Amino acid sequence: MKEITKKEVTLSENNQKIKFDYLIIASGSSYNSPFKEQNIINVSRALQLKKNYNKLCLAKNIVIIGGGIVGVELASEIVEKYKNKNITIIQKSDKLMERNNQKTAMYAKKFFEKKKVKIIYNEIFKKYINKNVLTNKKTKIKADLIFLCTGITSNSSFMKKSMSNFLNERNQITVNKYLQIENNQETINNIFAAGDITDINEEKLAQNAEKQASVIIKNMISLENNKPLAKYNSKPRIMVISLGRFNGILQYKSFVLTGLIPAFLKTFVEFKTMVRYKS
Ligand SMILES: Cc1cc2nc3c(=O)[nH]c(=O)nc-3n(C[C@H](O)[C@H](O)[C@H](O)COP(=O)(O)OP(=O)(O)OC[C@H]3O[C@@H](n4cnc5c(N)ncnc54)[C@H](O)[C@@H]3O)c2cc1C
Repeated sequence: MKEITKKEVTLSENNQKIKFDYLIIASGSSYNSPFKEQNIINVSRALQLKKNYNKLCLAKNIVIIGGGIVGVELASEIVEKYKNKNITIIQKSDKLMERNNQKTAMYAKKFFEKKKVKIIYNEIFKKYINKNVLTNKKTKIKADLIFLCTGITSNSSFMKKSMSNFLNERNQITVNKYLQIENNQETINNIFAAGDITDINEEKLAQNAEKQASVIIKNMISLENNKPLAKYNSKPRIMVISLGRFNGILQYKSFVLTGLIPAFLKTFVEFKTMVRYKS
């Protein structure tokens, strides 16, 4: 999809225009390669993953830029599998996974200390030159391989031409509590948005995207039947962060459980999700 207006969408490939009664925008977000790819078919995705795997095997010095959940999980997986690599995480703020519970950040910090993963706090990646990473504070770190784990960017370029007034400063689509797109001037009743693309102030999770999808379906049926619309209530969700296969953190509001049980839970959830998608 290349462009949308209030009445139709235009496809990228052939400029075909499709009119709609209802439109649901679920274009999500992009993440730096190799974590989440756009427009890549499964066969080439497999080849690309293999290439990345080979690079990882060969690299001695690995730098992970970003100490959010993705950076933490990645560093943990690498340190568990490969014992002789120098791993450094560069984190912009003064703690890991800063939007999470303090106990969660502390547990991850101690885990990495034990595993001899170096964490550089309060510094920002500037450039990669002669196999060295340079930060804004002029720290120089040897790096054969870098992973960018600096968060998501919204896939909303198709809004730019005609609907940019429904985008916030982070290019997220602004929605009301019924998930209809809305700005200060107007609400578009028959256009909904869900998932990572929305401006809802919560952790961007598949769990939340699925709940929003159910609300949108209910609301489309309600609009057809002139019934009141359902609200999407953003709630804290149980989050399980893996620290390799045998360690992890389960977090729900202020409750934090660490160790083997969260690790097994994460494996179970991932397995269940894969089975669900396969069927
Ligand atoms: C490394 C990583 C680990 C994660 N782990 C977890 C986890 O453990 N638990 C959890 O709940 N969440 C997790 N998440 C978050 C989760 O992946 C997202 O919240 C979820 O995928 C959002 O779903 P979505 O449908 O909104 O967007 P997406 O999954 O991004 O899907 C959007 C789709 O729209 C397509 N698209 C984009 N632009 C266009 C366009 N112009 N026209 C047509 N199609 C378009 C894209 O190609 C994509 O297929 C993780 C994310 C990452 C990156």
